[in-house]
Amino acid sequence: MKVVIVGAGWAGCAASISARKQGAEVVLLERTDMILGTGLVGGIMRNNGRFTVAEEMLAMSGGELFQLTDQNSLHRSIEFPGHPHASLYNVATMEPIVKRFLLGRGMDIRLSTRVDDVEMAGGRIKAVTGKTGEEKVRFAGDVFIDTTGTAGPPGQCTKYGNGCAMCILRCPSFGGRVSIAAKAGVKEMAGRKGNQVGAMSGSCKLFKESLSREIIDKLGKYGVAVIPIPATLQSEVKLSIKACQQYALPEFHENLVILDSGHAKLMTPFFPLGALRKIPGFENARYEDPYAGGRGNSIRYIGMAPRDDTLKVAGVENLFCAGEKAGLLVGHTEAIVTGTLAGYNAVRQIKGEKFLILPSTLATGDAIAHVRAQMETEEGRGYKYTFSGSVYFERMKQKGLYSIEPGEIQKRVDKAGMTGIFS
Ligand SMILES: Cc1cc2nc3c(=O)[nH]c(=O)nc-3n(C[C@H](O)[C@H](O)[C@H](O)COP(=O)(O)OP(=O)(O)OC[C@H]3O[C@@H](n4cnc5c(N)ncnc54)[C@H](O)[C@@H]3O)c2cc1C
Repeated sequence: MKVVIVGAGWAGCAASISARKQGAEVVLLERTDMILGTGLVGGIMRNNGRFTVAEEMLAMSGGELFQLTDQNSLHRSIEFPGHPHASLYNVATMEPIVKRFLLGRGMDIRLSTRVDDVEMAGGRIKAVTGKTGEEKVRFAGDVFIDTTGTAGPPGQCTKYGNGCAMCILRCPSFGGRVSIAAKAGVKEMAGRKGNQVGAMSGSCKLFKESLSREIIDKLGKYGVAVIPIPATLQSEVKLSIKACQQYALPEFHENLVILDSGHAKLMTPFFPLGALRKIPGFENARYEDPYAGGRGNSIRYIGMAPRDDTLKVAGVENLFCAGEKAGLLVGHTEAIVTGTLAGYNAVRQIKGEKFLILPSTLATGDAIAHVRAQMETEEGRGYKYTFSGSVYFERMKQKGLYSIEPGEIQKRVDKAGMTGIFS
């Protein structure tokens, strides 16, 4: 049983663990020289409904990556505007920890391996092809999982954003994203709101040491610093184009909200450096990611695959998807949940077993089905969905799915017959 997973962001990593646990041989292909994708620059976990979902996944025995991020958190149970009980994993050290974990589980990880085409046989993918450095490579498999995300290539950031801002994905060095579903002939979808196609990533990182002593100390002690933006500079805050609707709150317009994720995570898509340096404490500020964070950020949510609630891609017999590829689901938690389900169902397909659909009495199952339905409408494609805020968190609360009591969450998972399902 061989599962080939393309894209080693959080979704690809989760899919690989899940498929391996079901007994498959797994090869995980990543075009850059590090795994975790955009997870290399994020860090926020367990805020709002993400807490519930992390506990659901632990109860379903799909919680390895949540255990790793919990263990590697710099701050736990902190609060920043609108976001209680958040944890911040250390983005500077997370990647090697996850990589070692995957290698320890027997995963075949191929870095600097960019897939650029597929070989089809009827409605099935036979193999994916591409290059490792300059060498041509080909990976045949029984089932494939597209976890290539939705960020890049640079042309996308130029067309729909402010140009390549030189983000962590480093497309000019490693080659841009290539979608496996699209290569297999699937017509993909784009998120859109008004004239904006896709959405701009909603945070950037500053070198912590480029900030004032007072801010550094605050970050170390509380994990968060909220610094008022002088009224004359508030027009520089561009929240409406953000991918992360959950942070498009007035507090984020009137203040610089900074989180300690190893670096200083600035919760705004970009902020002109000259203006930023006029704010007390930021006189020497410098961007760490994207390098041109004074001008823009990456554009995401173009190129999502139509899929069902088992995460099988419509129109290709043996292709699953997860993470941002599976719809307008924003976040590491969201990528891990969908990755876990995709990896599980990929192996069930090989074994000829019935696919798993997570029940709608769990936030995980409800979100996967809800986002799929929303993606079928134009209005629905105008939103982004996350357990951590905005429209989906509201739905979670209305449906009584939000809880921060692990015992209660375990009982709910048990009642749904899902305890240990991913073990
Ligand atoms: C700046 C920024 C900050 C963020 N902060 C947070 C946060 O604090 N908390 C949170 O929960 N979420 C955050 N997010 C969102 C979150 O990172 C993503 O929604 C989630 O991690 C997406 O995971 P993914 O695996 O679907 O995709 P990605 O992370 O985009 O990973 C896709 C991977 O596929 C690889 N790839 C693409 N094409 C190919 C190919 N053809 N061959 C081989 N490899 C390929 C890419 O190199 C990449 O590594 C942030 C996002 C950004 C951009």
